[in-house]
Amino acid sequence: MKARFQFRIYPNDQQRKDLAKLFGCTRVVWNDALALCKQSENLPSNGDLQKICITQAKKTPERAWLGEVSNIPLQQSIADLGVAFKNYFESRTGKRKGQKVNSPKFKRKTNQQSARFRKGGFSIKAAKVYLAKIGCIKTKWSRPLPSEPSSVTVIKDTANRYFLSFVVEIQPEIKPAINESIGIDLGLKTFAALSTGENVASPDYFRLDRKIRRAQRKFSRRSMRSKRRERMRLKIAKLKAKERDSRKDFLHKLSSRVVSENQVIALEDLNVLGMLKNRCLSRAISKCGWREFRLMCEAKSNKFGREFVVINRWEPTSQTCSDCGYRWGKLDLSVREILCINCGTHQDRDTNAAQNIAKVGVGHIHDSKRTSRECKTSIEAVPVEVSTRLQYVQLSLFDW
Ligand SMILES: [Zn+2]
Repeated sequence: MKARFQFRIYPNDQQRKDLAKLFGCTRVVWNDALALCKQSENLPSNGDLQKICITQAKKTPERAWLGEVSNIPLQQSIADLGVAFKNYFESRTGKRKGQKVNSPKFKRKTNQQSARFRKGGFSIKAAKVYLAKIGCIKTKWSRPLPSEPSSVTVIKDTANRYFLSFVVEIQPEIKPAINESIGIDLGLKTFAALSTGENVASPDYFRLDRKIRRAQRKFSRRSMRSKRRERMRLKIAKLKAKERDSRKDFLHKLSSRVVSENQVIALEDLNVLGMLKNRCLSRAISKCGWREFRLMCEAKSNKFGREFVVINRWEPTSQTCSDCGYRWGKLDLSVREILCINCGTHQDRDTNAAQNIAKVGVGHIHDSKRTSRECKTSIEAVPVEVSTRLQYVQLSLFDW
């Protein structure tokens, strides 16, 4: 099993300059090769691209500086382009599952920069990491590497931070779980409702988000290519990095806890792309990180030998009583609590959905008990309004 381990590095001034040169060279090689691919009718092979965009280019006066950096990252850049094209074609023909992959794009100087070294281009020396033609860089080892890495990527993010990302082989760790199964209902107000009855709130991004939006407005008023514009860009990048880091930290902690405690982890398949089309909610939804959370749970389940189940999005998890299986039908979003008319239990909307997700996840559905409704409107299911929690007003608010 492959995994990535990322560490922050602190290059000195000379190394920063050398890294900038390296990033520039890998970017130029990528852009040259991509331009060549777009011109030619048939996609040139990696070997041809390497010959034209690296070996021959070095001999021309305009690209002579390509010889000043290590050759390995330049070759990796061409190889990456090949993979990008392969993913694009396979996604277009339906061979590749999941989200649609767009065709490779030209790289820009202002985006995140990266360069990859494979074996022979780097070595680990106690507290430092040696990179070819760059030198030994001070590295913050936040945790030990489990095995010999096969490659390392140097990254400079938009907030001007430097990182090393190692690819290492890891062994799955099988540890016994405490609970049999857990269902998770993801939402906006509470990030996750667990079938255990616990509600996990997500960190509040509101204040940070307001700062970002203000800064972005200022940024748009700065004149192009000015120093003040660049300073504003850096400020926004730093704020966004802060937000991203706090979200990542929260999601990692939650997914680790959920996966280590339970044997079966069930999540609902959300149509996030469809929901993002809702303009009122898209900003809030994209900040949540539902997809990131799902990917983390999946990867960690593989690592710890857990079963990860994604249940169908059409499963009526919020329309059914998790205690008796009685189906009360669609509820308005404002209804947070329900009193089941069949068994008399008082259900919280999200917890009930999470319990249903857990049940579907392990394959226990109340199919036999599920009763179909006969009349169009009824007062069988009683929604308990939040404002009138104490008086159980018998209402039928919705058309079934
Ligand atoms: Zn019930």
